Amino acid sequence: MKKILVANRGEIAIRIIRACHELNLQTVAIYAKEDEYGVHRFRADESYLVGAGKKPIEAYLDMDDIIQIAKMTGADGIHPGYGFLSENEEFAQKCEDAGITFIGPTVKQLQMFGDKIEAKEVAHAAGLETIPGTEDPVRSITQVREFADQHGYPIMVKAALGGGGRGMRIVYSEDELEEAYNRARSEAMQSFGDDELYVEKYLQNPKHIEVQILGDKYGNILHLFERDCSVQRRHQKVIEFAPSITLDDKRRQEICEAAVRLAKSVNYQNAGTVEFLVTDDKFYFIEVNPRVQVEHTVTEMITEIDIVQSQILIAAGKDLFKDLHLPHQKDLKYHGCAIQCRITTEDPENNFMPDTGKIETYRSPGGFGVRLDGGNAYAGAVVTPFYDSLLVKTCVQARTFNEAVAKMDRVLREFKIRGVKTNIDFMRKVINNEVFKAGDANTTFIDQTPSLFE
Ligand code: ADP
Repeated sequence: MKKILVANRGEIAIRIIRACHELNLQTVAIYAKEDEYGVHRFRADESYLVGAGKKPIEAYLDMDDIIQIAKMTGADGIHPGYGFLSENEEFAQKCEDAGITFIGPTVKQLQMFGDKIEAKEVAHAAGLETIPGTEDPVRSITQVREFADQHGYPIMVKAALGGGGRGMRIVYSEDELEEAYNRARSEAMQSFGDDELYVEKYLQNPKHIEVQILGDKYGNILHLFERDCSVQRRHQKVIEFAPSITLDDKRRQEICEAAVRLAKSVNYQNAGTVEFLVTDDKFYFIEVNPRVQVEHTVTEMITEIDIVQSQILIAAGKDLFKDLHLPHQKDLKYHGCAIQCRITTEDPENNFMPDTGKIETYRSPGGFGVRLDGGNAYAGAVVTPFYDSLLVKTCVQARTFNEAVAKMDRVLREFKIRGVKTNIDFMRKVINNEVFKAGDANTTFIDQTPSLFE
């Protein structure tokens, strides 16, 4: 490959463009009209308006226009980033049909992991433990009731095609069932164009641990250890760190090996993440994300492996060991601890509503062990309501978790952002909370800690 079209926007588009330039590849950006001043387009060698006349998000979903721009510019690869078309098997197929390399897993793998019910089947077949749940989609509320009667409350109703924490509802008792079921269904329909649901036991207070995987076209699979993404709001990640500080080495190895086993069972290609919910004595597979994730950064910091570059090279047919020169599993080590805070324009005092407007002042932190992935945050920039509210991913690395927390606090204090509201003060409260500092935060930590909102 010589030229890559980046089918995304914002920080991840810039992240991918950087990886391409380091590999001496040319880059093509696409932008919606609303992103006319988006920094990602100026970081690329060329940039083109996409989806003219479409709505701000739909423009980035205009598959035919994107492929047409790739053909016109002579791009031979397309990197979809995360969100948008990154998990869309139809798009991957269209790329293939046009003779363009889709930088991601195969069409079949996208299809198998796009449906969470099927993903659980695949995991089960590979010998991974899954959360007790319905094996087929539920077609009526009666089926949900039957499951609850058999397994007991609480249960969780989840969209089969779900993502981003949408289309899922916890049900604590029978009288909540109908509303939860209907809401999950309509949310699933609205967000994913499909209202297929499944049901699982709801695990109380688990940790979310996920394993980063890389697989090449020759059946080599490598895991890059785990991330703890337990700090969540509305089932969406807020803070992520690597490695986990509560898993002992035996558990870590078991979980990472389970992820590798699953990836090997399908000959997984490219970067992917195998997600688990972990309780005191068990770990359960929940899903595979067949793409680069927002939080890949912390894994890069502790392993020194560039995940986005690896994605590109793998898609180009390179071998993990012979060409990328990655260490074999037994020789792969991680160093220290890395933490990421997702700095957004959400206003904690207003139920985390995204704020918009002109950034009047923007001073960002720096120094030893600090990494910022942003792009659209600078003095004078206008934060629009059209896209997600992520402003700048802020990562730190230090030798220990405690040192990383102290560094993160220092880094968050250095930010000076005026003109739009941000979640920075809220993030400081989270990382300075004793539960978080002790490594005990689980997926319900934010919801169950009212002091964070005082
Ligand atoms: P999405 O694809 O929307 O991100 P996931 O299936 O990955 O959805 O789940 C996101 C989060 O929702 C998990 O990290 C966890 O906090 C919560 N969750 C999902 N399933 C369960 C469950 N069965 N029990 C408890 N929490 C769950």
